[in-house]
Amino acid sequence: MRRTLYCGHLRKEHANQTVVLEGWVNRRRDLGGLIFIDLRDREGLAQVVVSPEASCFAEADRLRSEWVIRVEGKVQLRPADQVNPRLATGAVEVIAERLEVLAEAKTPPFPIDAGWRGEEDQHVGEEVRLKNRVVDLRRKRLHDNLRLRHQVVAAIYSFLDGEGFISVETPYLTRSTPEGARDFLVPSRLEPGHFYALPQSPQLFKQMLMVAGYDRYFQIARCFRDEDLRADRQPDFTQLDMEMSFVTQDDIIALNERLAAHILRETKGLELTLPFPRLSYAEAMNRFGSDKPDLRFGLELQDVTEVFRGGEFRAFAAAETVKALVAPSLLSRREIEELEAIAKSKGAAGLAWARYENAGLSGGIAKFIPADLRQKLSLNEGQTLLFVAGPWRKTVESLGAVRLELGKRLGLIEPGYRFLWVVDFPLLEWDEEASRWTYMHHPFTSPNLDDLHLLDTDPQKVRAYAYDFVLNGSEIGGGSIRIHRRDLQERMFALLGISPAEAQQKFGFLLEALSYGAPPHGGIAWGLDRFVAHLAGEESIREVIAFPKNKEGKETLTGAPAPVDEAQLAAVGLAIRSKV
Ligand code: ASP
Repeated sequence: MRRTLYCGHLRKEHANQTVVLEGWVNRRRDLGGLIFIDLRDREGLAQVVVSPEASCFAEADRLRSEWVIRVEGKVQLRPADQVNPRLATGAVEVIAERLEVLAEAKTPPFPIDAGWRGEEDQHVGEEVRLKNRVVDLRRKRLHDNLRLRHQVVAAIYSFLDGEGFISVETPYLTRSTPEGARDFLVPSRLEPGHFYALPQSPQLFKQMLMVAGYDRYFQIARCFRDEDLRADRQPDFTQLDMEMSFVTQDDIIALNERLAAHILRETKGLELTLPFPRLSYAEAMNRFGSDKPDLRFGLELQDVTEVFRGGEFRAFAAAETVKALVAPSLLSRREIEELEAIAKSKGAAGLAWARYENAGLSGGIAKFIPADLRQKLSLNEGQTLLFVAGPWRKTVESLGAVRLELGKRLGLIEPGYRFLWVVDFPLLEWDEEASRWTYMHHPFTSPNLDDLHLLDTDPQKVRAYAYDFVLNGSEIGGGSIRIHRRDLQERMFALLGISPAEAQQKFGFLLEALSYGAPPHGGIAWGLDRFVAHLAGEESIREVIAFPKNKEGKETLTGAPAPVDEAQLAAVGLAIRSKV
């Protein structure tokens, strides 16, 4: 007996044929003397019927969920009243003639059968799921997600191949690449006391490939960043990494838009309208309080700094920025307090408010609100005004967080895929702690050449040729035009407080490469996990990664990280200082 087709591929046209199916018992039921088996493989379910007369009846009677079996039988059309329209195989069933148990199975720690029948899977806590990932991965939802991920990658390859890109692999055991995180280190056995760093991105290698004349490079690359854990981060994650030569920012943006459109067409059958909107960093921050605005709803921030300037409300009168948000409903005190907690967690001093009801403003700071504000914001009955005042960035970001929360709570978020580009990022930002300038993207990003004259005199005004690709409120990609001249790169290092000696020691190879005639070049990297999560309609990237780490960065299935033997440590010349 050899398998003739996948369970999930069984159709009406197979009626009267003898088939051999192999798979897992999704469910077994005894009905009026007959045994019904839902047999499952990656393509779906097929119904197998075993009658008491069949010679394999006794064997079928032993079956339990998740046993692996092989069945031979005749396909027949189901009686009209037994057709299951929810299953692609629902018009037929297989009358078993022979049946073989290939493997028995323990009772799974949680049921996985419902999703395959088109029903909702039972909710299971994530820790249990990750610990039992093999069973978890059997579920329909994860099969769908990993299949979608594959389709996305296949679409990327076909599109980029058609555009003349070539895929090149870059090393995992390498030297530090600064993307703003800590490196994972790998000790060298052959040179004790020396370490490789796992790449935070292939950034410098792809730039060197451009210097080497490869012109259009891409890679589905694993990146490693030892960052503090946040909800939706993994210490190892996947990028679609690209680099192009002799291009402008507009060329890179246009190509990536066509790539996004191609992927959505191939995987979702959707036609996106191009080009995507572009917002400058300043505009995104001012209007949405975020450099990755969610455009699926409005509720924009309004600037009211001037309305309060020098007025009697002290807290607002001298503030650098005062921003307002008009919530389209009357919020209760309690709701306002909850929103205030969100604003404060982003650095706001507080969240001021007033309600517009009974033809007037009342509550909160109502008595301080100048009359012309009502016109300016064209207020209506039944709305709540929310304000934050303070330094510009904290003000917009904290009210931006309130905006997002309101969007969710009030159900304002429209379905769909809203892509946009955020451009004109500042090149530098001031690092309070270190009290020096630091890069906003990475140290190889080119300043906007129109702003070059400000580099020494007013560095904060210098814009970068840097862009972020945003989908539904999350940053799914980011890139820049790079510095391709050694002198400018050296100037940049100096501005970042990297001494010539340090620059030489850490990035000498790049500077050397740049002195052999580098083409103007630029690129981008997409966060593939997050992008696929969006397409899959999943909140967490762990739902689109086969073997993810948990929220503590642990991989509980195999139990990593784990201690190693003394002998292994000795071989790489290491000793553990203390166990924390
Ligand atoms: N290497 C950058 C990153 O990982 C992306 C880029 O500039 O192409 O964010």
